[in-house]
Amino acid sequence: MSDLIIFWHRRDLRISDSIGLAAARQESRKIVGLFCLDSHILDRKDVAPARVTYMVGCLQELEENYRRVGSQLLIVQGEPSIIIPQLAVALEAKAVFWHQDVEPYGKERDEMVGLALKAKGIQIQQFWDHLLNSPEDVLTQSGKPYTVYTPFWKNWIEQHKETVAPKLDNVQGLTAAEITVAEEVGVIPLPTAKDLGYFWDTPLILMPGETAAREQLEEFCNRAIAEYKEQRNFPGVEGTSKLSAALKFGAIGIRTVWKAAVEALECSYSDEAQGSIETWQKELAWREFYHHALYHFPKLTEEPYRKKFKDFPWENNPEHFQAWCEGKTGYPIVDAAMRQLKETGWMHNRVRMIVASFLTKDLMINWQWGEKYFMKHLFDGDLASNNGGWQWSASCGMDPKPLRIFNPFSQTKKFDPEGEYIRQWLPELSSLDTEYIVSGKIPDDEREGCGYPQPIVDHNLQQREFKRLYKEL
Ligand SMILES: Cc1cc2nc3c(=O)[nH]c(=O)nc-3n(C[C@H](O)[C@H](O)[C@H](O)COP(=O)(O)OP(=O)(O)OC[C@H]3O[C@@H](n4cnc5c(N)ncnc54)[C@H](O)[C@@H]3O)c2cc1C
Repeated sequence: MSDLIIFWHRRDLRISDSIGLAAARQESRKIVGLFCLDSHILDRKDVAPARVTYMVGCLQELEENYRRVGSQLLIVQGEPSIIIPQLAVALEAKAVFWHQDVEPYGKERDEMVGLALKAKGIQIQQFWDHLLNSPEDVLTQSGKPYTVYTPFWKNWIEQHKETVAPKLDNVQGLTAAEITVAEEVGVIPLPTAKDLGYFWDTPLILMPGETAAREQLEEFCNRAIAEYKEQRNFPGVEGTSKLSAALKFGAIGIRTVWKAAVEALECSYSDEAQGSIETWQKELAWREFYHHALYHFPKLTEEPYRKKFKDFPWENNPEHFQAWCEGKTGYPIVDAAMRQLKETGWMHNRVRMIVASFLTKDLMINWQWGEKYFMKHLFDGDLASNNGGWQWSASCGMDPKPLRIFNPFSQTKKFDPEGEYIRQWLPELSSLDTEYIVSGKIPDDEREGCGYPQPIVDHNLQQREFKRLYKEL
């Protein structure tokens, strides 16, 4: 058996600030990266072409980074519990390391791979990396998982957070003979997203990979973070970090992100800036909250957290759903957001909340339809955060109080008062008066003239009906 350690990458597509890679480097100099194109994930119906394109972009840079430090990233395709042990045996690897996952499929897959490797006499080591605190570390006094955010935050913020892990460097990869062996077992060149069956021909709004993610973080911490509390709510303003895809795929380490926030806090010059940075830290904690929740309650992927909601009499009108997906509901803020999603694979958080409230509370369509549609389009689509966001919006998840129903027009008035965001994504409305766009009271002839649909439902009636049905639950 050689000194080789295989590091299996999944949602950690980087070589800096990686707990598991740093641990592997302490044990050996001979380290190769591995990524498995897993058909259980890539063949699912809710995979977004933009997300695969972003992921492949991250893998391209990861491949390059391994080359730079003296090693390789190996790509395989197939069933992880078969192909990974085969490769490890063929290369006579000493161990396979990886980072733990919170998703139900990921947990099951890792267990299978672990058992198969151990059966072949290969060691395994697993680490928590993609969260600042592991789900087992943040529990109530009675040892239970939190189900409400605020007490979770109070405990979580007090917990020790690891420092940034050292970047992988000065390693030794496979020899030419070992590469031939790896190829015989099934190592392939990195395919494109198109090769994998995913077509996304619009340029991504963000560059994938480690370098771009670090630059994004730096730019955000130098500028927008100090005004985040105010600016984060305006969908037409670049007021947030746009780091969600990088965090989902681990193009940046969460400790690096946290360190930047802490340093920004230390250097902040006003109460307003301090409040903004703390607000951003609380958003990072929402991500942890939802990931912990999924780890402890895997059934969240199948059903509402509040069981009573299983019986909610959703209308599930397919025509209304179609209009929502296409951005043709007659509600400008909803339609603008849905078009932004379809065209770019991205949607601002404020409008994610508005369209999710509209789908569930105005159209009374099951939140799971919206959850799937988002996953099919978002390039930051992440099971835990998306599920958490949808259950929160539908009021069937954790933290359900107060009952939140977003009024699309008062939201527009507050967060897109000049209708700039709406005009950007609904060019057919661009020449209308701001008052019409923001209030939604577009005269019939103007509506007809620009081919914009009448509202498909009446918000006031629908919200009353939702409240009634909610009360009955
Ligand atoms: C219905 C719905 C669906 C969502 N689906 C996803 C999803 O699939 N993937 C995803 O990453 N986020 C999702 N979110 C959360 C949030 O909208 C995005 O994380 C955020 O818009 C990303 O933009 P940003 O990186 O500029 O965030 P910033 O405002 O800069 O926040 C920093 C980071 O904190 C995390 N974060 C912020 N807000 C939330 C939140 N409410 N829940 C969880 N994490 C948060 C993200 O990782 C984000 O990158 C969803 C929210 C809703 C309401």
